[in-house]
Amino acid sequence: MSTKAGTVIIGAGQAGLSCAAELRRRKYEGPVTLIGAEPALPYQRPPLSKAYLAGELPVERLWLKPEAFYPASDITCLTNARVTAIDREARQVVLADGARLAFENCVIATGGEARIPPIPGANLPGVDVLRTFAEADHLSAALEGAKSLAVIGAGYIGLEVAASARKRGLEVVVLEAAERPMARTASPILGGWFGAVHRGYGVDLRVSTPVAAILDKGGKAAGVRLADGEEIPTDTILLAAGLALNTGLAEAAGLECADGIIVDMACRTSDGDIYACGDVARFSSALYGRSVRLESVQNAIEQGKAVAAAILGEDVAYDPVPWFWSDQYELKLQIAGLIDGADMAVRRGDPEMGNFAVFHLKDSRIIACEAVNAAPEYMAAQKLIRSGKTVDPDALRNLDVAMRELLA
Ligand SMILES: Cc1cc2nc3c(=O)[nH]c(=O)nc-3n(C[C@H](O)[C@H](O)[C@H](O)COP(=O)(O)OP(=O)(O)OC[C@H]3O[C@@H](n4cnc5c(N)ncnc54)[C@H](O)[C@@H]3O)c2cc1C
Repeated sequence: MSTKAGTVIIGAGQAGLSCAAELRRRKYEGPVTLIGAEPALPYQRPPLSKAYLAGELPVERLWLKPEAFYPASDITCLTNARVTAIDREARQVVLADGARLAFENCVIATGGEARIPPIPGANLPGVDVLRTFAEADHLSAALEGAKSLAVIGAGYIGLEVAASARKRGLEVVVLEAAERPMARTASPILGGWFGAVHRGYGVDLRVSTPVAAILDKGGKAAGVRLADGEEIPTDTILLAAGLALNTGLAEAAGLECADGIIVDMACRTSDGDIYACGDVARFSSALYGRSVRLESVQNAIEQGKAVAAAILGEDVAYDPVPWFWSDQYELKLQIAGLIDGADMAVRRGDPEMGNFAVFHLKDSRIIACEAVNAAPEYMAAQKLIRSGKTVDPDALRNLDVAMRELLA
């Protein structure tokens, strides 16, 4: 064991753990300390709105690694431990109890928290949010015995919770201020189609419908009031309004931030010994020619690994083809690439049949693909996005032309 200060990772989530595990896999010799504010060891968040909330996944399946992994890998994982400052001059992180930990390299993997939108009543008891395991258990308990749920926000998490709550037999209303579901991340074709699917499952999904206030009944949330004055009483309410990034530590330490912590291709912040990865990091994508910040498991894992490689002195150029998935009812949505900037959309397959893909092209090259129960299309798209090969739109929409022929 080295006597060096080693690597201190702030945030024991998907990205932080990925970095710690990769450092050990690559035979990093210094101490590795993973510091997490939550009481639980690192766990996966995606099932929290899907199988776990629907009651179809036992809690043991949430843990990313068994408890024995940490001592066996010589990774010190501190839980219930919050870092309150990064002292760049002293090369130390400061914990809430005043303890200080020296670092040679520091990794910020602090993710974010559920954003609370400025709606009157948003802080009332009976209003749930969903980012953490504890919040999922709280929401699940609230749904138990409830008859109705209002979801504010029709992004992925809001829609996944709507689907899980329908499975549990609740009446569900989803209220979205934008003109379609998943407006921030999915195309109009896909968002509109998913909206229709939810309505088919009995969800009262309303778009262009801002919520003006949460109804207060004796100090407890009792439903919502819409901007047009309509009141919808419900037993439970979920705010699903996106992420508030945990960039406070980085900002206070004087690191460059702008909707995320700015990192270079090797995931280094404006301080060369301090790295950032996962939801909280903003990097420059050579593939897309712009700065991006990704909120996905794939990015958290891969960027965590890239940080480990950079700490070990490798020449790292992190430039992924982003991908993401969402499960709603029996539908598996997989998205590869980024849609913004496309000049053409090509549909392959029939949405009526429940499996299809929408390809987004720019200058005849695929830059993104949204695939519903269409794994071959999704997998081929990942390769085509990376290669930058031009494709014939007619061949792309023709189901008689196999995806592998387009790859050739
Ligand atoms: C309900 C839900 C469903 C999702 N579904 C999908 C999906 O289907 N597909 C997909 O690709 N992605 C999905 N995601 C997103 C995915 O889970 C995130 O992109 C991923 O978890 C990001 O990992 P991270 O390590 O960057 O951040 P996080 O997982 O948020 O981990 C950050 C950790 O840092 C800790 N922390 C913060 N500040 C401090 C501090 N000062 N001191 C100590 N610890 C601190 C936090 O407590 C947290 O545990 C989902 C997310 C949620 C919430």
